[in-house]
This record gives sequence, structure tokens and C-alpha cells, in this order.
Amino acid sequence: MTVIASPAPVRTTCPYCGVGCGVIATPQPDGTVAVAGDPDHPANFGRLCSKGSALGETLSLDGRLLYPEIRGERASWDEALALVASVFKNTIAEHGPESVAIYGSGQLLTEDYYVANKLMKGFIGSANIDTNSRLCMASSVAGHKRAFGSDTVPGNYEDLEDADLVVLVGSNLSWCHPVIYQRIAAAKAERPNMRVVLIDPRRTMTADIADLHLGVRADGDAALFVGLLNSLVELGLTNPDYVAGHTTGFEAARLVAADWDISRVAEATGVAPGDIEAFYQLFAATPKVVTVFSQGVNQSASGTDKVNAIINCHLATGRIGRPGMGPFSITGQPNAMGGREVGGLANMLAAHMDFDDTTIDRVSRFWGSKAVATKPGLKAVDMFRAIADGRIKAVWIMATNPVDSLPEADAAREALRNCPFVVVSDMAAKTDTMAHAHVKLPAAGWGEKDGTVTNSERRISRQRPFLPLPGEVRPDWWIISQVAKRMGYSHGFAYFSPGQIFAEHVALSAFENEGSRDFDLSGLASADYATMAPVQWPVRPAGTKRMFADARYFTPDGKARFVTVQPPPPIVPAPGQFILNTGRVRDHWHTMTRTGKAARLSAHIAEPFVEINPADAEALSIRRTSLVRLESRHGSTLLRALVTDRQQRGNVFVPMHWTDQFASNARIDALVAGKVDPVSGQPALKMARVTLSPAHVR
Ligand code: SF4
Repeated sequence: MTVIASPAPVRTTCPYCGVGCGVIATPQPDGTVAVAGDPDHPANFGRLCSKGSALGETLSLDGRLLYPEIRGERASWDEALALVASVFKNTIAEHGPESVAIYGSGQLLTEDYYVANKLMKGFIGSANIDTNSRLCMASSVAGHKRAFGSDTVPGNYEDLEDADLVVLVGSNLSWCHPVIYQRIAAAKAERPNMRVVLIDPRRTMTADIADLHLGVRADGDAALFVGLLNSLVELGLTNPDYVAGHTTGFEAARLVAADWDISRVAEATGVAPGDIEAFYQLFAATPKVVTVFSQGVNQSASGTDKVNAIINCHLATGRIGRPGMGPFSITGQPNAMGGREVGGLANMLAAHMDFDDTTIDRVSRFWGSKAVATKPGLKAVDMFRAIADGRIKAVWIMATNPVDSLPEADAAREALRNCPFVVVSDMAAKTDTMAHAHVKLPAAGWGEKDGTVTNSERRISRQRPFLPLPGEVRPDWWIISQVAKRMGYSHGFAYFSPGQIFAEHVALSAFENEGSRDFDLSGLASADYATMAPVQWPVRPAGTKRMFADARYFTPDGKARFVTVQPPPPIVPAPGQFILNTGRVRDHWHTMTRTGKAARLSAHIAEPFVEINPADAEALSIRRTSLVRLESRHGSTLLRALVTDRQQRGNVFVPMHWTDQFASNARIDALVAGKVDPVSGQPALKMARVTLSPAHVR
């Protein structure tokens, strides 16, 4: 298992966003690592963004957790693993399997996720394993399943270049998925007739390539797309043959949409009727259209409905499963998709299977365990509520920082503070979450990890190591397996390599699953793991670029389902209130445990800020760069004002990256209510009600 530093170039994958760019890392004689985009990787063809190109500057051991600790004291691996295993085992014996939980991360590799899911769902017998991917794309997962019968992204990145119209909804690609932005911008430069429409409350930098920007109100997207469906029907520009032959539920969706004419959509969205009409006409007149959606759609109390309102328009026109056409969810994290594949979400069992009698029996026989969980577990927000009220008494948090990233983050912190047993495995020694760990387990980071990730277009790529494991750091899969063995589950966790785990994952995807077209990896031979080239699933056997080309879906009748969407009432701030939108900046990632190490990344934006419209700033006597207090029912913070007309009136934006480790009291998710989408359980991180006031600091 020892990993030796490689002096030769190593092909690996970027650890940041869901674009999943290929990276070539070359260790240098002076101990540094040169990083370049992989010209052969189909996600980026050699491109890298600012974060990816600075990866070599983030590899120092400063701030790394290098040894296990128990209650703040260095411990041996044997002591730490034995303690974790015995406390989990005793807690389960005393309070049952639902009294423990694992909270994972889209930073985990697929092999790590697989083993964690197998331990919790397969052997402990609880499905209380969820992930920070719940905060990222759970609404897209739920929307795909409602429409397609499976969590399947239909298209690929080439479709974005082939399209004549790209609609970006709640997606600041230029900062959050920069290489995809570059690919679209390059395609648009080559084909002047290509159009881009941006739908976002903010006029983000992505607007630079947009022909039309619709500054919708927060959560106005569902009304906009329900109105689009109505407009397509009225214009007679649906595809009746496709609708009749390959879908169900159109009539019900059409009837609800019929109430949404342009004036009602304008009222709900705050967008001028002329701009709405221009968008509708462009969509109606352009056969090759891809609609890209991201966190602005997903992180909402109506996120799943928004996803289905978008998919409905593609089904109604038959614009799916063909080059340059389709709805396209872009994930935030490097391996959010891999987590979905192995069952890392509390409502999925394993290998893309939901919970039912057949799948439980199949997985139970494959894993050789009679204890397989029989029902979904607690999703992220509910999981931390269960920790807070004592139902969960032992939690293991892997590669994530929920004390900063969950809504009502102060309550999450309090929950961990009072939890009888908290284990955190991470590469960073100090995070706001690690501060509450009874046991700290040093986990491998990028450059040391060995395994696979899957990007937004279903493409599985290898992350390969090019650095030795420092100190006593170990891979997550090894740590989880060691705890499992000490809990008495030795026969299921005798792993010696990530390739062996991946082979098991491949075998499970095909086990008694013949004929399934949904998620089948069986074309991947374990002998090829070391040299595996990026491949899209289902593998069959050479990868599948585009799904639903045959218009056959994964529902029982093989037809796609229209979902009837009733848009929520418009969100209008009460007098004195603002709608707070949270998100990313260009050069930082999550809670900055890696990007915070690269000085040039912090040079782009050095401190947290609140972005505010000039008219709002003037009305509140807030001057440029002055300090502003933001308050909600759940918390308050102090931020510097960034006054800009990119922000619409009544709305403010605050980046999510800064934590107590970097700026005191800047944890913006502490202000966000724990309201979730009722279908997906994804929290509405982009819609909090806050008040603003100038801060007078002496
Ligand atoms: Fe990494 Fe995403 Fe940038 Fe690609 S676009 S280099 S995956 S952060």
C-alpha cells in the first residue's frame, strides 16, 4: 500500500469542480510539482482554470494532519482505529444501528465512498450515510429519477459546443466551471450564430458571453420554464410524435402550464415581458439547444420542480438524446457523481439501486451480509438535527466541513459540540469541524490518493498518486476497512488496493442485473485499472457518449415522464429585508483548506464581501468598502461592502468560502435557514432572508 513518489509525469484528475479536468503532474527535482492540463483528456483537452493551474502551489504539508489523535493527543493507528470501532460497536449494541452515522463528501474517491457505503448500509444495517453532495446536486438526482426513472445525465460536454443555443440557468460557469465556460466561449467565437442565454438573479461574469441575460427573482426559474412549456404549446412548436411515442404525463403538465402566460411569468420572475418573449422565441426556433443548470436551480426549496420544469421543455420538443440537445446538470464537486454511483446518498442503496425487496436481496447476497439496510436513512440536514437531539450518538465525518457548509451552521456546530462521539477523517489539521473531533484520522489528499472520480458527463477518470503518503497519513478506503474489520466485519473488508475495490464495484453494477442499461460498468476489466483511460458509463463496453438516443427511458414502461410543476409564489423581500444568495468566487474552493495555501489564488479576492446594488447601498448609507452587518433569525456576520450594479435591488450575494479559520465570524451559512426541497432534501442555500445595516466600528 506504500506509495512511492514518482519522478515521471502522472496522468490524474483535478480535485476541484465537477468538470473533472485531466491533469499531468510532474514531480520536480527541487521537490515542487509541475502541473499542466492533459491534452488527451476529453473534459479539458489541455485547458486548466486558475484553480487547476495553481494545484502545484497547494501541496505543502503546512496545516496537514499527519498523525491520528485522540482527544487532542497523538495516538497510534491501532489505538485510534480500535477506539472508533469499539465506540461505534457499543453504541449500536446499546441504541441500535440508527444511532450512528457517516457524513461523507464529493471529495472522496469512488473507492472510498464504496467502502463507507458498504460498511454503513451493508453491515451496520443503517442507511444513515449522506454527503455534502446533498448540498450540491440532490435536486438534479431527484429530477432525473422522476423524469427518466434513473439518475442519468443524458448528454456530454461536446453537446455544449454543438448546440446553437446554450441556456445557462443558475450557473455561473465562468467562475464555477471555468473550463466548460472556455469551451462554450471558444465554440461561440467560431460560430457567430450560436447564442447563449443566462438566467440568473446576478449579472455574473458569465454574462460576458450571453446574448441575453434574464435577471430572474430568486426561485423564479420554475415559473420561467413552465411559461416556456406553455409558449411552446401555443406556438405549436412541440414535437407531438415524440410526446405521444416516448413520454407520459404531458396533458397534465400542459394544463397547469396553460395558466402561465407571459404577463404572469413576468410578474413571478420580475423579468421584462419583452425579454421573456425573446427567450421563448429563441428556444422555440432553435432545435439544437442545451439547457445547463447548476446550484442556482438545485439549492432551492423548489429545486426538484425547477429541474423537471426544464426537462419538460426538452421532452416536449424531443430535444434530448441527440447531438447538441438536452438538459444538462453540472455538478459542483469532483466526485459528486461517483458518490451517486455507489449509493453515497442516504436514499440510494448501492450501484444506482434504490431500496426495494429485489435490490436489497441482490445486494445482501453480493455482499454476503444479512444486515443490509432496508430503508433510506437521514439526509444531511435531518442527520445533523438527529445529532442535535441525541438520536445519533456517534458520527464519522469524512473530508468535509459541515460546521461551515450546512445551513443553520451554528446549530450544526452546537450539535457536534454536544455529540458524545465525533470522528473526523481529513487531510487538514484544523477546520471548524475538526475542532469538535474526539478522534482525528489523517487522510490522504490529492497527489497521494489513488482511485477514480466521475465528472458531470458520466466520465470516470483515474486520480493517480505522484507523492508519498506523508507522516502516518492513510487513504480513506484503508481507514474505513480497518475500522470495519475491528467491528467484526472482517470477511467483507479484506481490501489491499483501490483497484480491488473498484473491481467489486464493477461486479456489483452487473450482478444479476443483466439487460440493465442504466448503470453497467461491466466492460471495465480490473487488469486495466492502472492504465484506465477516461470512460463514460454505462460502459457497454467502450463507454456511452449520449443517453436516450433510442428514446427508451428507465421507467417501467420505457417512457419519460412529464412532471406537473406548479411554480411557487414569487419571493419578494419584506420591507427592510434582502434576499441573500450564496456561492463561489473564481479562485477559491469550498472552505479553502487547499486553495487557501496558494497566495496567487487569494490575490484575486482577498476577503469575504457582501455584494449590493448601488441604490440599496445608498438607501442604507452604505459606502463602498465600508463594513456591513448582515443578520437573519439564525445568525449574523460582518462583511465589507462590494457595491455593484451586477447585483439586482433587494438581493445581496456573499461567497461561501471564508470560515473561522480564515476570517472570524464569516461563516455565511450560519445565516441560512435549514429549509429543504421536499423531494430531494437539498437545502435552499441560495435563498435566505437577511437585514443589512452599516456597521460602526471604532
Ligand atoms: Fe479543476 Fe474545474 Fe478548473 Fe477543471 S474547471 S481545472 S476541474 S477547477
